[in-house]
Amino acid sequence: MKCPICHKAVQLSDPESPFCSERCRLLDLGNWASGNYILSTEPLDHADEA
Ligand SMILES: [Zn+2]
Repeated sequence: MKCPICHKAVQLSDPESPFCSERCRLLDLGNWASGNYILSTEPLDHADEA
């Protein structure tokens, strides 16, 4: 399989699978956090907390 971030080959036995490294795993989390992957326009239930 390939790392979804940098598309390097990743072994299924890799502890960071499906990412090639912790760095790519954190980058993926960062993409989620920054909204790059948000598909729905509906606000989250607790979006207006605070
Ligand atoms: Zn990678």
